[in-house]
Amino acid sequence: MAVMPSKKGNFHIPGASRHLPPDKEFHAEHITIQLKVDLEKKQISGTCRTRLIPLREGIAALHLNAREMRIVGVSLDGAKAPFEHDGDILTVSPPGPLAKATHELRVDYSAEPRQGVYFISPDEKLPDKPVQAWSQGEPEFSRYWYPCHDHPNDKATSEMVITVPEAYLVISNGKLVSKEEAGGWVTFRWKEDVPHSLYLNSFVVGKFGVIEDEAEGVPLQYYFPESKRGDALRLFGLTPDMLKVFESLTRTKYPFEKYSQVAVHDFMIGGMENVSATTLTDTRFPDERSEEDYAARYSRPDRNHIELVAHELAHMWFGDLVTAKHWSHLWLNEGFATYFQALYTREKFGEDEFRHDMLSKADSYFEEDDSMYRRAIVDDTYVYADDVFDSYAYEKAAWMIHQLRYILGDDLFFDATSEYLRRYAGSNADTHDYMKVLEEKSGLSLEGYFEQAFFKGGHPEFEVSYSWDEGSHTAEVAVKQAQQTDELTPIFSLPCEIVFYVPATTGAVKNGGRHVKRVHLGSKEERFHFELPWKPSIVEFDPEERLLKKVKFEKPVSMLLSQLEVSVDGSSRRRAAEGLSSFIGSPEVVQALERAVRREDQHFSVRSEAARSLGKIGSKDALEALMGLSGMSNRRVRRAVVAALGEFKDERVAKPLLAALRGDESPYVQCQAAVSYGKARLPDAFAVITSAVGMPAPENAIAEACLEALGYVKDSRTREFLRRHLPYGTPTRVRAGALKGLSRLGWLEEVDVATLKEILLEDKEYTVRAQVLEVVSELLDRRLLAAVREASEKDADPRARRRAMEVAIRLADSSSVEKALNDVKDDVERVKTEGKEFRERFSSMKLA
Ligand SMILES: [Zn+2]
Repeated sequence: MAVMPSKKGNFHIPGASRHLPPDKEFHAEHITIQLKVDLEKKQISGTCRTRLIPLREGIAALHLNAREMRIVGVSLDGAKAPFEHDGDILTVSPPGPLAKATHELRVDYSAEPRQGVYFISPDEKLPDKPVQAWSQGEPEFSRYWYPCHDHPNDKATSEMVITVPEAYLVISNGKLVSKEEAGGWVTFRWKEDVPHSLYLNSFVVGKFGVIEDEAEGVPLQYYFPESKRGDALRLFGLTPDMLKVFESLTRTKYPFEKYSQVAVHDFMIGGMENVSATTLTDTRFPDERSEEDYAARYSRPDRNHIELVAHELAHMWFGDLVTAKHWSHLWLNEGFATYFQALYTREKFGEDEFRHDMLSKADSYFEEDDSMYRRAIVDDTYVYADDVFDSYAYEKAAWMIHQLRYILGDDLFFDATSEYLRRYAGSNADTHDYMKVLEEKSGLSLEGYFEQAFFKGGHPEFEVSYSWDEGSHTAEVAVKQAQQTDELTPIFSLPCEIVFYVPATTGAVKNGGRHVKRVHLGSKEERFHFELPWKPSIVEFDPEERLLKKVKFEKPVSMLLSQLEVSVDGSSRRRAAEGLSSFIGSPEVVQALERAVRREDQHFSVRSEAARSLGKIGSKDALEALMGLSGMSNRRVRRAVVAALGEFKDERVAKPLLAALRGDESPYVQCQAAVSYGKARLPDAFAVITSAVGMPAPENAIAEACLEALGYVKDSRTREFLRRHLPYGTPTRVRAGALKGLSRLGWLEEVDVATLKEILLEDKEYTVRAQVLEVVSELLDRRLLAAVREASEKDADPRARRRAMEVAIRLADSSSVEKALNDVKDDVERVKTEGKEFRERFSSMKLA
């Protein structure tokens, strides 16, 4: 029997090996980095002084990470010291074994860093780029710009003395001690007095506007490109509120001298929590039109700018004050920052918004688990330290913390977490350190939970069923854990709530209302019995979304209808709306969903889910309902309605979609309208969508969406139109959109293969190279195998190298079955398109 190969790969790709925290020869107490930054030559030169104490008697040599730098000289305690440098490790040999006392190591050096420090400057194709230089230490790039023990397991205080041409600002860690101008140059001296891991040292050089603020006595600075002054507070404005909330949730004062955020150009990620001085991308400023429903990407509507700012600020406690001892315990930084961001969302926007946020995070994790690989959150076997920065360390870990909050209860959870911060402040921790604090504070034995949550993989896939015995007035709930178990994926042991709504109307029956029963799940199949006063109208399984899970709970339509109508939990009403999508052909269901979309008193996530279900039902009356809903005043609901309209191949959707594309006040509704217009395969799609490409939106979101949408439009002109938006010099997101469009077309012409190869191997923009890898992964086009292999070895960015390796494995592995299927699919598409292209050419010839 031919078995379809799984899309899932293995986290442990070839070349992966175990990584343990390295031995330490010394503890660095204080580091002073004095650098001149030459923005034209893209060079740094200066001195790094480390005050250090050997950790053992008799250390004969000191080893420091110092990659690709020129070492000019080394001295120890003021005397010249012999050294060797192999381009990676600097070995310093003192005259004799070092005494266990304080020593000063001075290294004079220069470098033109390929990583660690990035120089941004305009070029012929992009003449408007600003001139900037900024550093990125995490995870292991500090070694490219100063010699140090470049691992998280040591903490030092630091001083950054940076000299730049006098028109520029330098932003760095801690307090600004002095600023001195001389001979056209200016020197900024910054000092951070709280010990921190060395990857958190940073500097940014550039020209920025600044707004100063304050919260709880902490000075705040927001730096931005001057052109974004009007939008700066839309991005940064909630910082003081966030800081107050985090101080209160952690019961710990903000730990550093100040908190600055600086938005830099071409940043490779959303943000980086450098100590007291976060560096951010400059691509997340909402404008007046987009502030209300800002989406970091139109295709990821649930990620916004507030989330980014809160996540980085939460790191000041989790990651900067207390730091994971090793990258394999990264979740202690990222899981907490992700979860505390969600807790901020809860404080600011309420429980419904919080659950929506958590469910979106769960979806990100499920997507990665389904399509990429499954791993334990704590896993020390990898190729690059960057590999562990995935949805396991972020979203899944956030969920594992959320479950701990449920198991312990709020008081114990927050109390113990605050104790963890107190105990490890200025120091490092690992997974067991956190567990031990929780155990001490709660008296609970948590080994079992930590084992399944952090050292195993997967999640429960529950299959739940319910029956009622009228004779004994007993509800039976059967719960099966249907996940495939193996070495990595266990049967999970977890508490869970089952909730019954019992009608209170039948005279003789008392105790109507909502009955909450807490059970403990721990076996593959379990049955629970509950005596209830009356047959329940609704039965819910974990309605408050305390557990990370997939769940199938088949219920009669009547129960889902009342759940959608009356459950007190928005998240449960949302699951009801989702469940109703499988009842096709019921006018009652369509009416109930339509009512749910219209209900303005409930959270947009329920209303949007109801709209999605109408799209999935796909019937005539569902379409009619949706046609009447495209004017909903909530932008996110409107976005969902417009998305659902794209599910219909019916010319009637043209009118509301066109109105949304051309006139909606929300750019993200416009984006969605473009995609839906393409998906609905309307006859004038090419003309309509291409005419909308130039519409203004933050980060060219509409152009990106239009180009992706064109991928659905089988028109002879589509491919050429997409190609025109690929060259370097076109805005990054527009290029990414053109690549998504090409991918949607389903196959590549030779000329596209050549272009993709060139981008993959030569292009300056990481985002675009990464998007090419997604195209190849999607289309499994073996003509690109050699190029992908080459990228897996030589791409400058370790994330691209890893992804290329995964894609190369998929390409090489794609068995004859998958390849044959894809070839057939390609052939069918090609014949269809070529046929259409021919017919169009033929008909235009006739006209001409
Ligand atoms: Zn983070």
